[in-house]
This record gives sequence, structure tokens and C-alpha cells, in this order.
Amino acid sequence: MRKKPRNIPYDHDWHRLSKRFLMVHPLCMVRGCGKQAKHVDHIVTVRAAPHLRLDWSNLQALCHQHHSRLTHAYDQGRLSGTCDVDGLPLDPNHPWAQASQSEAIAAVNRRLPADPRLAALLKCGYVRGERR
Ligand SMILES: [Zn+2]
Repeated sequence: MRKKPRNIPYDHDWHRLSKRFLMVHPLCMVRGCGKQAKHVDHIVTVRAAPHLRLDWSNLQALCHQHHSRLTHAYDQGRLSGTCDVDGLPLDPNHPWAQASQSEAIAAVNRRLPADPRLAALLKCGYVRGERR
């Protein structure tokens, strides 16, 4: 019988750290939520920054609803509130941020995932109640 491969991002160290984090932060950190936190979320994803996987400052406690909403929408590139006060896109990969029409067309067809740093910024803004 083959051994089940170990899920490295969510190993023993992670479970111990996330348990400790939820003891210190028992409530969802999204402003105005106040529900019991069930998940510890990586602000910058493990894929984008594996060295921050066990970094306390890269964690936030979330209820089930907010965790699902954030991980699906923000990590998979369906970002909202991604423009500045002038309505211009913050994402340098956005078609509107390109210098020419042909580059804009290329940007549309690339379908790049969201920039992880931008996603983290938006995630923090969402949690603090600055963005919806
Ligand atoms: Zn919540």
C-alpha cells in the first residue's frame, strides 16, 4: 500500500500555529463581522510567498463565510474595488493599464491570475472595511 503524500503547506507546524492564532484572535477580523473565526487565512498566499507560510504577520482569522468569499474572489483573480480614486486600474496587468491598444488586446487574452501583492492589499482593505 502506498503512503499518502504529505500536504506540505498544511502540515503539523501549520496546524499548531493556526490553532494558536485562533486562540489569540477568536473573532473574524473583517470589520463589523464579529462571528467566531473558523479559518486562519494567509494574506499573501502560500503559492505567492511560501516563505511567509508560518509568518504570524501574514495571517488573519476569518469566519467561514468571509474565508470562502475572500479565497474564491481574491485569490482567483476576480477582484473588486481594484481602481484608484480616478477610476484607473491598480493592477498593472489590467488592459486599461497598457500603453497601446495592441498591448491592451494582448492583456485581455493573457488571462493572468491576479497579482498576489495586489490581491493581498485588496484583501487587507476588505478586512479593514475600506473596500467591498
Ligand atoms: Zn466574518
